[in-house]
Amino acid sequence: MSLFPETEFQLGPEYQIASVLLPMPLPEAFDYRLHEDMKVEVGAFVTVPLGARSVTGVVWGLKQGPSKRPLKYVEEVLEAAPLMPQVTRDFVERSSKYTCTPMGNMLAMCLRSRDALLPSPTETYVYRTKSELPRITPARQKVLDIAPQSADQGMTAAELARQADVSTGVVKGLVDSGALAQHEAPIDKPFGKPNSELKGFDLTDEQQAGADALCEAVRSKEFKPILLDGVTGSGKTEVYFEAIAEALRTEPDAQILVLLPEIALTQAVRERFENRFGAAPAEWHSNATQKERRRVWREVGAGRAQIVVGARSALFLPFQNLRLIIVDEEHDGSYKQDEGAVYQGRDLSVMRAHLGSATVVLASATPSLETLANAYQGRYQHIKLLARPGAAVLPEILLADMKENPPAKDCWLSPLLVDALEQNLDAGEQSLLYLNRRGYAPLVICKGCGERLKAPDTESWLTEHRYTGMLVCHLTGFSMKKPVNCPHCGAADSLMGVGPGVERLAEEVRGLFQGARVEVFSSDTARNPEELNGIISRMEQGEVDILIGTQIAAKGHNFPNLTLVGAVDADSGLKGGQGSDLRAGERTFQLLSQVSGRAGRADKPGRAIIQTYAPDSPSIQALLANDRDWFMELEMKSREELGFPPFGRLAAVVISAENSLAADDAAATFVRGAPNADGVDIWGPAPAPIAVLRGRHRRRMLIRANRNVDLSAYLSAWRERIKLSSSVRVSLDIEPYSFM
Ligand code: ADP
Repeated sequence: MSLFPETEFQLGPEYQIASVLLPMPLPEAFDYRLHEDMKVEVGAFVTVPLGARSVTGVVWGLKQGPSKRPLKYVEEVLEAAPLMPQVTRDFVERSSKYTCTPMGNMLAMCLRSRDALLPSPTETYVYRTKSELPRITPARQKVLDIAPQSADQGMTAAELARQADVSTGVVKGLVDSGALAQHEAPIDKPFGKPNSELKGFDLTDEQQAGADALCEAVRSKEFKPILLDGVTGSGKTEVYFEAIAEALRTEPDAQILVLLPEIALTQAVRERFENRFGAAPAEWHSNATQKERRRVWREVGAGRAQIVVGARSALFLPFQNLRLIIVDEEHDGSYKQDEGAVYQGRDLSVMRAHLGSATVVLASATPSLETLANAYQGRYQHIKLLARPGAAVLPEILLADMKENPPAKDCWLSPLLVDALEQNLDAGEQSLLYLNRRGYAPLVICKGCGERLKAPDTESWLTEHRYTGMLVCHLTGFSMKKPVNCPHCGAADSLMGVGPGVERLAEEVRGLFQGARVEVFSSDTARNPEELNGIISRMEQGEVDILIGTQIAAKGHNFPNLTLVGAVDADSGLKGGQGSDLRAGERTFQLLSQVSGRAGRADKPGRAIIQTYAPDSPSIQALLANDRDWFMELEMKSREELGFPPFGRLAAVVISAENSLAADDAAATFVRGAPNADGVDIWGPAPAPIAVLRGRHRRRMLIRANRNVDLSAYLSAWRERIKLSSSVRVSLDIEPYSFM
């Protein structure tokens, strides 16, 4: 049957129509007409007109016309681009529905590198031929000595001349004489093929059992979600390496995605992959250049990049045959994207694996409560690694009760921790002090009038950064020079920093231990991959005695000579404005376990000293008793009582407007229009904890629903029926992690 029978007669003959999804905030695909000679498949990349522009999109469906209204034509089919497979299209649709994000926005995530859709530009490379030379000069000899033996090495004539330190004329002369040949090839080099037959460590029995279970899942070619739950340093990486090798053995064209928290992709990690598989993995992260992105995108789309290591957005790369997804440190907060398309990378990994009948491994020493609940209820297979291999043992955990063991005036280290640091220095071993506060002081107040300095457009305190002399808002990045006079009362030299940041702690440590090599490790001192690798390698080389770090230092690193960890303010995640955050306790426990786990990873035993004013709080007690399961069960019980995730569903709605009145009005209109539904509670609206952000006034609602409610569908329907002024923004966050 034709789609539009009643108008068929007037509109004349049949033709092909492509429904094209465009990478912009649009909920559905638009129809375009195809020229008769255009050959197009569903999933093809095409360019189409949109207003005065040409836009690249993906063919979402094909049907026969005629259409009820006149259609514009598809302009071009991008032949060099890979087809977007059915499973990726399903993923775009499903994730868009789940996250209440327009489909076009989800597609935009899949198209991060537009020029990767075109054929790779080419370059001319030179290489040595077998032909003999009539005349050799010293300059020519220099060139021949270093000229590559094949075009694959990708050396241009200019590069060869530069390396040989001769003029390009010399190289050209050798080309003319036939001693060098030229070959034109794509600029974007393929990634090396990983070798699945290289051997890793001899695994312990426990590791081997874990590896066997993962390999079996991979071979089944079915959807298998697995929690790989192993204490820090138990060899989770080695175990999932076996699964990667098995995926490559099972299907020679298999692709594997390893997701890591953004900052964890260090030189050390890269080398580990390279050593194990004989080829560097493709890397996808926010620091990559346009050129690197283009290469990775194209090679993944062509199926040639087989092992991809990346941050959460790598999930949207154009995989052709994704067989295995590993989410390392699956509990990590950085898998949640809070701006733009709001999504939880771990959850979408499971969804993606489900759609593609693949294995997904969630690895952690401190799994999230959601994942543990799934394992307890039998939805995920649960593999445990309880021991560190070899001589390495878990660190001893000691508490420093700050009420009984207070630091000196204006200092932050308890005598217990100071003594331990001293012992470690004497023994020539390294220490890590963990304090999750960047800068010098988290608050700046005026001694004269008591004013706390705030960012001009955001309701948040400014942090003093003494190395740069700036006051910085960590939410928006706003910064200003620290003023000499109080901006409020004008008093001179009256501004003082309150509370400790890592810079201030470094000042204290340098004062205590003169001559010790102290370094600060935070996103301010590791601003790019070079700085990050610099700090890590100085730690590895033993050039640092005491490292003072934020979260960035807590995760993943393997420092063999690090034997003491001090958590300077273990309670910081539990106090302050975070009372309404349902994960505050869980996160505190996870971070403290992770940071303690940095100690004693090789043959030297380690210890962790936890400074706390709340020694009886469950997260601290659980850490001390090394009893994660007790703590998580306690947390689970309280979430179950409140009907919070994973026992119920939660969503946050933030409504923002240009002024306070408009925000109140819009929030009231929005909440009045809530659809009736059983099993749904609506809390608020109330001013959000950060009531003003970048000049916009924010009101927040929390929506809790029973597990059987499709909260995404409920929210989408709700938003659909409310008409608000165009200056009002509504943001929906399913399973929120940030409650600001
Ligand atoms: P996790 O990912 O659980 O923190 P890793 O896989 O990083 O643990 O292992 C911790 C350290 O122990 C690494 O240096 C790793 O090379 C080493 N290791 C793991 N398993 C073995 C083994 N079976 N034999 C020798 N060394 C191992």
